[in-house]
Amino acid sequence: MSDEPPPPVEPTRDALTALEKHFGHRRFLDGQNQIIGALLAGRDVLAIMPTGGGKSLCYQLPAMIMEGVTIVVSPLIALMKDQVDALERRGIPATMINSTISATEQRARIADMRRGKWKLVYIAPERFRQRAFVEALRAVDIALLAVDEAHCISQWGHDFRPDYMRLGEAVEMLGRPQTAALTATATPEVRADILRQLRLRDPEICVRGFSRPNLSLNVTPCAKVKEKYDRLRSIVEEHKTGIIYCATRGKVEEVAEQLDEWRVPVTSYHGGMSEAERGEAQDLFIRRKKAVVVATNAFGMGIDRSDVRFVVHFEIPGSLEAYYQEAGRAGRDGEPGWCELLFNYADTRTQEFFIEGSNPGFDTIRNVYQGLLNRRDAENRVVASIEQLAEFAGAKNSMAVSSTLGILVRAGYIERFDVPGKRIRGTRLLRPDVLTRDLAVDRAALEEKERRDRDKLKGVVQWAYGEPCRQRQILHYFGESALADCGSCDRCRAAQERSGAREATAEEMTCVRKALSGVARCSVRRGEGWEGKFGRAKIIGMLTGSRSKEVLASRLDELSTHGLLKETGSAYVQALFREMENGGLVAVSGGEYPLLTLTPRGEVIMKHGGSLRLNWPGTATKSPAPAPRHAAPGSPRAAASVSKSSSAVAPGRREKPAAPPERTQREVETSLSEIGFDETLYAKLRAKRAELAAADGVPPYSVFNNQTLEFFTRLQPRSYADGLRIRGVGEDKAKRYLQAFVDTISSH
Ligand code: ADP
Ligand code: ZN
Repeated sequence: MSDEPPPPVEPTRDALTALEKHFGHRRFLDGQNQIIGALLAGRDVLAIMPTGGGKSLCYQLPAMIMEGVTIVVSPLIALMKDQVDALERRGIPATMINSTISATEQRARIADMRRGKWKLVYIAPERFRQRAFVEALRAVDIALLAVDEAHCISQWGHDFRPDYMRLGEAVEMLGRPQTAALTATATPEVRADILRQLRLRDPEICVRGFSRPNLSLNVTPCAKVKEKYDRLRSIVEEHKTGIIYCATRGKVEEVAEQLDEWRVPVTSYHGGMSEAERGEAQDLFIRRKKAVVVATNAFGMGIDRSDVRFVVHFEIPGSLEAYYQEAGRAGRDGEPGWCELLFNYADTRTQEFFIEGSNPGFDTIRNVYQGLLNRRDAENRVVASIEQLAEFAGAKNSMAVSSTLGILVRAGYIERFDVPGKRIRGTRLLRPDVLTRDLAVDRAALEEKERRDRDKLKGVVQWAYGEPCRQRQILHYFGESALADCGSCDRCRAAQERSGAREATAEEMTCVRKALSGVARCSVRRGEGWEGKFGRAKIIGMLTGSRSKEVLASRLDELSTHGLLKETGSAYVQALFREMENGGLVAVSGGEYPLLTLTPRGEVIMKHGGSLRLNWPGTATKSPAPAPRHAAPGSPRAAASVSKSSSAVAPGRREKPAAPPERTQREVETSLSEIGFDETLYAKLRAKRAELAAADGVPPYSVFNNQTLEFFTRLQPRSYADGLRIRGVGEDKAKRYLQAFVDTISSH
């Protein structure tokens, strides 16, 4: 894979039409373009996009356009059912085949596939175990085989499933239909495994969407536990809603108790709790009854709470994949999210212990097996707890015994079964004649896996100590190229500080957001990002109210943002634009004539504000800045922004630029609403959404998500028909909710 960003693939008109018609979306999310474009051009694809990045659409949409049926392999029956239900609600002919469906019904569904009744059929991986099943599929006209959660195919992944190993063979038997592999996590070795095992032919590889411009990633070295608690307290006080990950159950309980003492509304979650307790804890958090959850990494699968404002790692996690997946649960709504690792090198010992537990040595495997042989009953069964098995085998680490059982299951020596009325599971020896010394276990593979696990841990440690931008390091790890530093992690902030930058005051923030909205007005949305239409000078002229020939000729005087920064003075605005470019908020695109446009980070700041450090022009004489939104009292940032009143002078400054005039908060709000961000209307729409959600007993995001509410705010549809055109408004939701929002907007 090259480091060059992929050339933009324009979505075909068919794809866009289908997108709107079947899914109610008006634009592709980052990466969807490229993937769908390649699939429609007949190519195999490996797509690596983070959870929530919109992977399912990448095969669902081509399925609607291509001839034949699209087969989706997906490991989780519950998710499969959700997806099929959602497709059915959209009127798309879809069904599923898995162990919950009777054999007769399975045959009927395959027959229907042959007749072309279905566009999408979800199939559980273990179905491919049966040759007869694969044989039956051969008579079906397969348009596309989509393998979801494709990392399950790799032993090096965190979620290896032996049934996925058979997919390669099945692909071959089916005559190698066009194949798409999709996953949220794939390090280079997992990626290589997917390509090899699924036998993808010259695939388009797309790694996209890992960048999260609204997240601020931070690592705080903490020599003592007390320092961790001090930091934690300020983070919780400042950011309020969030998740705290701990490495062990014991630590979860300890931290939760401490928070409880601080009177923080907290719940906890770990694998030692019963299923019912865990369900309840998760529910309390998702339904917003509790603001904070303290959890082990068991917490997270299917967490759908978008307004998580912080994620703290109380201890170092075992891999960057795990870290970023967990940290990534912050800020799903696009508003700023704060992520912080409380780092103490000694905590790596806990992870080492886990590595030892999940990588039992060859001796442990033999001892456990011998223990089973010794204790088996007449039917070759052993009913004993893991602890008892550990005792039989003389093993110290009971986690290593569980891992051993897993290895023996995969190698076909044993199977596990439920014992009615007991919490422990039984073990049956499937090949009891095999003596311990004849066990065929791939020692090289075991050693290799352990080595890789240790490398992953090393990767997190290197990241924690690493000097470059945190976000950039992570993107590099995942194989996505970053165009710019993130500007908001601790490393970026430190660099800004060294160069004399400091946090924005409220007035400066308003000024920047106005400037950015001016840039947005002078740009067009293009697929996933923005494309500039005008150069810097014209945009500045427009914002400062110029009536120059150039501005008038481009009719920029007709924009509502014309003259928005008139009082600020053009020298200040010019210096500001240069700093915005240095700070990665705007960027120049285009060849012959440099055209200015928004970056993803610029878009976040424009929409939500947040933390912003720049070399502010002409502010040397101003009073100290108020504490920035993100900085906790006592944090290095807060101290820096108060003590350091920047004396940096904007380059190229000639006359003394006027600082933005002080304004009242009210004025600030009014002017922001003038440029299309009517915060009051937005608040009203959110209240309406909360009301509708409560009435239906569903979480608010499932009415419309924040982004859709933002579109409502900006575009202000006054009729049902106008509302239907807004991104995120599908027919179903429109019928149920749209009128209420249109009414709210009209009366506002
Ligand atoms: P993943 O499988 O990558 O975790 P999903 O396929 O579940 O992600 O999609 C995540 C969310 O994004 C879903 O709510 C989906 O409806 C939404 N989504 C997908 N594509 C688009 C799009 N082009 N525009 C707007 N929303 C989208
Ligand atoms: Zn950074």
